[in-house]
Amino acid sequence: MNLSQLLQHFKTELKDVYEEEEVKSIFSIVTEHLIQFNRSKLMLNWDKEPEPAQEASFLAIATGLKTHQPIQYLLGEAFFYGSTFKVNESVLIPRPETEELVDWILEKKVEGQTVIDFGTGSGCIAISLKKHLKDASVTAVDISEDAIRTASENASLNHADVCFIHADILTFQSKEKFDIIVSNPPYITGAEMAEMQQNVLAHEPHLALFVSDERPLLFYEAIADFALSNLQPEGTLFFEINEYLSKETISMLKDKSFKIIELRKDMQGKDRMISAKL
Ligand code: GLN
Repeated sequence: MNLSQLLQHFKTELKDVYEEEEVKSIFSIVTEHLIQFNRSKLMLNWDKEPEPAQEASFLAIATGLKTHQPIQYLLGEAFFYGSTFKVNESVLIPRPETEELVDWILEKKVEGQTVIDFGTGSGCIAISLKKHLKDASVTAVDISEDAIRTASENASLNHADVCFIHADILTFQSKEKFDIIVSNPPYITGAEMAEMQQNVLAHEPHLALFVSDERPLLFYEAIADFALSNLQPEGTLFFEINEYLSKETISMLKDKSFKIIELRKDMQGKDRMISAKL
């Protein structure tokens, strides 16, 4: 099949899953990934026939997309804060709102810090911070061994020296003090599950996404407790938060005697980030 026929195949296979415009843009991402044709090269080469092995990959990706598999898992990579990260079903696909969190931390422009990232997943926060804060010593924790393995690969891929620790946020202890404690822990409640897209629900790790309706701030509480003993006096705690739980998160932090520095909205205008100090 040539590229034009392959696009037609994608349109037919995916007509019940994606709008036609989305299919075209996904097709161009796939083409770039599999045969390194950018969009303009694609436009000029519709009659190009990929090698048989490449054609098989196109067809396999179309089949995956049809069953709502996210394109990032099918290609095995995602882009985050200007870098490429390997992803698979053991880690969450890095989100744009998390890029905003990284951007916010980097705005502070402090050098030579010690940083710890809880629930690192693909390692996107920890690795991006290390890439931009060259002198920082960065530690990252995750309860999933598969996630730690993926994050370590991502650190090598991105030439970032990060210390990964396989541990549970709820019990993790350290003697070290940190200037920055950051986390994007699981925060979606069961009640919000119904609103979620099928590609997220069926393929992304529930361990990284969901919390119980009874204790939605469980991880935030544990990280705040860790910060009480392990945050440097001038250090800052940064959280990505559930947009519906900003008030609750703030009052939990205040009850533990933190001072809220700022509550920030994401690009969609949703309460998404909090910074706090002791
Ligand atoms: N923002 C992610 C989502 O909407 C959730 C991230 C998380 O639970 N920490 O899917």
